[in-house]
Amino acid sequence: LNYRQVTKRTISCLQSLIGDDNVLHDPDELIYYSGDENPAGISAKPDVVVTPQNTQQVSQVLTFANDHRIPVTFRGQGTGLSCGAVPLYGGIVLSFERMNRILEIDEDNLVAIVEPGVVLLTLREELARYGLFYPADPGERTSAIGGNVATNAGGMNGVKYGNTRQYIVGLEAVLASGAVLQLGGKTLKRSTGYELLHLVVGSEGTLAAITKVILRVMKEPQRVITLYVPFPNLTAAIATVPQIIREKITPTAIEFMEQELLLMVEQQVDQRMPHDGAAAYLIIRLDGDEETSLYKMGEAVADLCLARGAEDVLIAESREAQARIWDLRGRFYEVLKSTNILDTVDAVVPISQIAEYIRLGKQISKKYGLTIHGLGHAGDGNVHLMLLKDTLSDTAWSEKLPKTKQELHEAAVALGGTISGEHGIGFEKKKYLPLIASKDELAIMRNIKHVFDPNNILNPGKIFDI
Ligand SMILES: Cc1cc2nc3c(=O)[nH]c(=O)nc-3n(C[C@H](O)[C@H](O)[C@H](O)COP(=O)(O)OP(=O)(O)OC[C@H]3O[C@@H](n4cnc5c(N)ncnc54)[C@H](O)[C@@H]3O)c2cc1C
Repeated sequence: LNYRQVTKRTISCLQSLIGDDNVLHDPDELIYYSGDENPAGISAKPDVVVTPQNTQQVSQVLTFANDHRIPVTFRGQGTGLSCGAVPLYGGIVLSFERMNRILEIDEDNLVAIVEPGVVLLTLREELARYGLFYPADPGERTSAIGGNVATNAGGMNGVKYGNTRQYIVGLEAVLASGAVLQLGGKTLKRSTGYELLHLVVGSEGTLAAITKVILRVMKEPQRVITLYVPFPNLTAAIATVPQIIREKITPTAIEFMEQELLLMVEQQVDQRMPHDGAAAYLIIRLDGDEETSLYKMGEAVADLCLARGAEDVLIAESREAQARIWDLRGRFYEVLKSTNILDTVDAVVPISQIAEYIRLGKQISKKYGLTIHGLGHAGDGNVHLMLLKDTLSDTAWSEKLPKTKQELHEAAVALGGTISGEHGIGFEKKKYLPLIASKDELAIMRNIKHVFDPNNILNPGKIFDI
């Protein structure tokens, strides 16, 4: 791709546009902006980083970059797992770290208006002061709302509450040309032409910069309980999930994990789960406002689990007991990453096919000699397969990993699923996109890209090639 080089003059132009403080070009500082959290992924150093403080500055940077054909890659907190925030062609990284204000919490309309750099944890804490909560819950709470919207992030609450998209009612978006769009608003319904808002949600920084987000919030559920359920094997655990859903019970979250992984994590963090002697576990969170009906729901789930072979059902009620379970679950990725080289698959399959997908996954990884662990959001079919390098040599790992991943993605699609449930395509899954998107679909996507960003300056090299 034919982009202009960033020169000293480019840097001084950017400085005069948005101020010296908002332009970073020290090589040591630039390294921080060259990768994301995918340990098996690529990295690339930007030539310059800008940290605008308002929409007008974002618009000025984009107008300048578009006029000078300089690529721009947006960055939230860089916690993505698909190399989406990696500036493949160098150029400008536009980081939203300084646009991090919560602008309004509107209790009458149950919406919040926030800048894209607001960190999820900060938003949650602020909403809690009003007795409100934002249900979309990606496991990484240091991620930024703009990144969540750009990847249509999911998370553990997906079973009951869905992904980020369901909560976005309005966006301010800046096009490559610098034009500012106000999409949607505080209303909850709209039937007014093409829904550009939802084109921008999940577009991974390839269509527009998200500079303001209007999101739907809810009254915080009064009560939450967690069921921790040991099973003699993973198949029995997973096979229970569609049964729970079929009974019209909607837990907030259903996560699954295998013992091997649990023991590994327990050892690393020096903390024990209430029970770690079974081969597989389901962790089920239920929420509601009314105590009797919540416990009735808990009992119904427990009965179903026991009928499907669960060894026991442990119920955590206090905040502390539940936090211990979920905190440990939340640390799996971090622990694995610190002890092994790994890659993750973010496939999603119909819930009735999860057990089959894991069986196929293990078969495929065995064929290539890779260690694999299944972990994830069993309740919405989003299976995270963790591929570990373990004792493989570097050569064997780089030879076997792509073949294994190719087959794992093919298997998900063959079962009626897709290649990403929540992490997005980014660079990392670009080569697998044709497995799920037809030539016609890809042509439409390319045409849409051209309308939003005719010079292909926004996050080039991501999702698909032009
Ligand atoms: C331990 C761990 C657990 C995780 N668990 C989950 C999980 O449960 N569910 C889940 O969905 N993800 C999960 N993730 C992945 C990651 O946290 C999410 O993808 C998150 O949404 C990324 O947010 P970010 O701010 O870090 O975005 P970044 O990584 O900075 O960027 C991601 C993409 O969004 C684009 N982007 C960022 N901000 C903007 C903006 N304002 N305008 C336009 N484009 C923008 C970038 O260009 C890039 O393409 C996890 C990651 C880790 C490390």
